[in-house]
Amino acid sequence: MTGARAYSPLSDESLLRIPTAGADFDIHNGKLLAPILIPRVPGTPGSVKVQQHFVRFFQENLPEWQIEWHNSTATTPATGDQQIPFANLIFRRDPPWAAPGDVARLTLAAHYDTLFNPKGFIGAIDSAAPCAMLMHVARSVDQALTQKWEAMKASGDAGSGLEEERGVQIMLLDGEEAWVKWSATDSLYGSRALAESWEATRYEALSAFSNPLSSISLFVLLDLLGAPNPTVPSYFQTTHWAYQRMASIEDRLRRLNVLATEGSGSKFLHDTKKKPTQFSPGYVEDDHMPFMARGVDILHIIPTPFPPVWHTMADTGGNLDIPTVDDWAMIMTAFTAEWMELDGLLPQIQARRSARESAKTEL
Ligand SMILES: [Zn+2]
Repeated sequence: MTGARAYSPLSDESLLRIPTAGADFDIHNGKLLAPILIPRVPGTPGSVKVQQHFVRFFQENLPEWQIEWHNSTATTPATGDQQIPFANLIFRRDPPWAAPGDVARLTLAAHYDTLFNPKGFIGAIDSAAPCAMLMHVARSVDQALTQKWEAMKASGDAGSGLEEERGVQIMLLDGEEAWVKWSATDSLYGSRALAESWEATRYEALSAFSNPLSSISLFVLLDLLGAPNPTVPSYFQTTHWAYQRMASIEDRLRRLNVLATEGSGSKFLHDTKKKPTQFSPGYVEDDHMPFMARGVDILHIIPTPFPPVWHTMADTGGNLDIPTVDDWAMIMTAFTAEWMELDGLLPQIQARRSARESAKTEL
């Protein structure tokens, strides 16, 4: 349905207005990223601290975003009879006039929990950096969303029913990691519980969508991002068109010379020419699975091969490649702005060049 709708690319002028996170991605004191770079095992104080960081960020900076907690508990093979709490956090912005069941939502997801073993594991690419990227996306499109919806109200287009209502939600998921060994029951604790509970939630009769799952227009899952030179394939034929949109955004940002990673070898989304016969049934098991099993369209942004630091003690803030983190955040922001039709509404940014250059001097 969304694929069939007219889709207009962002103008160069809008692409040049996509902001970088700059110092907020500093690993020691950056406002977005640094507080996430601690162990975040479900049910531990580190996990609670990071949940508070997410909630406070939205409450203080983005008050228009609705915050939803989704709590569940489960036992794990590592912790016996103890019920471990898992808390997914959903941050959502819908058109202010729209009923919840009438909004198609671009859904951007990453997990924030970390491995139970090895002790002290940080999980910078897995997935502290992706969570910080999504916080940056939210704040970067916030003002433009307000303007777009104000203008629609002023012109009388609001709620006319002529167009699909579009919203955006960011899901920070808990309990993705296995506690002992990856299996259908020891993994994806948060996403399995969430997909199940959303499937059982009914929107009002006569809503455009029957439940919160069917209201997801596209589920974009970010994982293992932040290591240098990522190569992310297109995994699913059904969403290859969305992969191509994102890849085209990456290309255009590179040509406009606003990305921090350079050189012909540094293209992240290289798989644009894949033919229908080249898609294999294999994929990487991750938080999208409980949603995909229920018919949700998935765009999985995870590199193949996995970065070498994956699930080792070397997956730390110090081993992140910050220019790569910056570039992913810009690509995701532009993709979201394009999807939400924010062309011409993004605020002017000042001193991009100086921010970029000072980042380079620090390196
Ligand atoms: Zn992991």
